[in-house]
Amino acid sequence: MNVLVLNSGSSSQKSCLYAMGDTLPDAPPACVWEGKIEWIDHKAQFTIKSSRGVFRQDLTSSRSRGEAIEVLLRSLWSGETQAISSPSDVDVVGHRVVHGGPQFLEPAFVTAGVKAAIEGVSVFAPLHNRAELEGMEIVAKLLGPVPQVAVFDTGFHLTMPLAAATYPGPYEWFEQGIRRYGFHGINHQYCAQRAAQLLGKSLSSLKLVTCHLGNGCSLAAIRDGRSVDTTMGFTPLEGLMMGTRSGSVDPGILTYLMRQRHLSGQQLDEVLNQKSGLLGVSGISSDMREILAASQNGNKPAKMARAKLAFDVYVHRLQSGIGAMIAVLGGVDALVFTAGVGENSPEVRAAVCENFAFLGMRLDPGKNPQSPGDTDISVPDAAVRVLIIRAQEDWMIAQQCWNLVRTATLRS
Ligand code: ADP
Repeated sequence: MNVLVLNSGSSSQKSCLYAMGDTLPDAPPACVWEGKIEWIDHKAQFTIKSSRGVFRQDLTSSRSRGEAIEVLLRSLWSGETQAISSPSDVDVVGHRVVHGGPQFLEPAFVTAGVKAAIEGVSVFAPLHNRAELEGMEIVAKLLGPVPQVAVFDTGFHLTMPLAAATYPGPYEWFEQGIRRYGFHGINHQYCAQRAAQLLGKSLSSLKLVTCHLGNGCSLAAIRDGRSVDTTMGFTPLEGLMMGTRSGSVDPGILTYLMRQRHLSGQQLDEVLNQKSGLLGVSGISSDMREILAASQNGNKPAKMARAKLAFDVYVHRLQSGIGAMIAVLGGVDALVFTAGVGENSPEVRAAVCENFAFLGMRLDPGKNPQSPGDTDISVPDAAVRVLIIRAQEDWMIAQQCWNLVRTATLRS
């Protein structure tokens, strides 16, 4: 079964093709074709990897997002990047949909009703949901009546108990859809499954805390394979400190800034989403690598102090968030680090885990600095395991499509 996955970001579009057989492999397989568009300085930059090599190309801004996606998809069956002989070789297309609102727990075949429901909750994530709906239209135009599946980033967290999902504001908020949804669900769920596999245990016997630390950061508390709490909420702004996002701040700061400094909603949005987090505190960068480099550069003491502070706030917020997740779970068997920072920063992992030594969490000093993917990096006798798991959202989406198509075929 050839499964094509589309994953739209606010400034990028990724897509990949998996050739899947009758059984699922234990470890994620490589894509047979992989394409990415990044919009940088009003240019669409294409990078396409196929069995014939890696191809890069820049296109000017005269192309719309939709036109650029069409170019990307056509390169799957034509030109030097061709991986299949015609569009009809694609058996199913999976889309990552950021917001599924309160109704989509499970992946769903895309129908007119599903599209209307995605459109209906797009007020919660306008940029993302509309880009994803556009992707569905383009696929229908280029590939015809191929089955399409929507996989929701919020779906995994809909199992959270009401106590975790409800904000302590007026109850009408909840009735209006203002509740905690949580995000990064596709990767949190994948990490839970992969952790069980790597630990050789059943998912139903495990209490896990998964730390998705990329440009956006979130934690999930997972019991019996289900999310029981997470740090992101109504929007992906709540919770941990992130690259450019503040995470949780006292809401009183916002009313103060509105009243005393006359900031508009749009200005607040910009400050909290784009000018805060590692970038805001350090004044240097949103990239953890640059924060770490600056925090060790004694030639620039002022910058060094701000970089160290940014790192310390990041770690402090992570520790208190992980502590809260462990309390909600009533214990923890394993802590999982995933995404850009989680997978690649031994400094962050070491600093975070240090305070959990009292629970029996101890990193292997030989393994942690190597950042080995899909590996247990704790010492053999540690009571709590610590794992690094490479984020594999696209593979998770492909597996969900495979499952859904096979179940539908068996039923028919
Ligand atoms: P996204 O959330 O956009 O998918 P990623 O998961 O790719 O992002 O994470 C990107 C972030 O990962 C970068 O901003 C950078 O801070 C961080 N990162 C990547 N490599 C390293 C590294 N070697 N050390 C520390 N941080 C890293």
